[in-house]
Amino acid sequence: MTRSSDSIAESMRQDGIPEEAIAAWQETQAEVGCLDKVRDAARSIGSIARSGFRRATAEEQARRMGICRSCDHFTGVTCALCGCVMEIKTSFTAAGCRQRRW
Ligand code: SF4
Repeated sequence: MTRSSDSIAESMRQDGIPEEAIAAWQETQAEVGCLDKVRDAARSIGSIARSGFRRATAEEQARRMGICRSCDHFTGVTCALCGCVMEIKTSFTAAGCRQRRW
């Protein structure tokens, strides 16, 4: 079952993700207007939820962000492929790069 971006945003709120990050994510979703990206984000959030929202270490998040920052798909906030806000996505152990770069 695919969840709407509104229900995903509500889940993010319940998980304590800052409103600014949620707004940035929603803006990206609206801009891309691509159902595949919403589905991808929903899958990622599902994996993250199943892992118990386990957080990556600060070192691991920094390593992942370093890879994203050097990637052509990184917009400065989001990944152009998955539409995720990378500061958030990289912070969860169960998250992964769609291109398997991390
Ligand atoms: S998640 Fe992967 S494809 Fe997206 S910006 Fe990061 S390294 Fe690039």
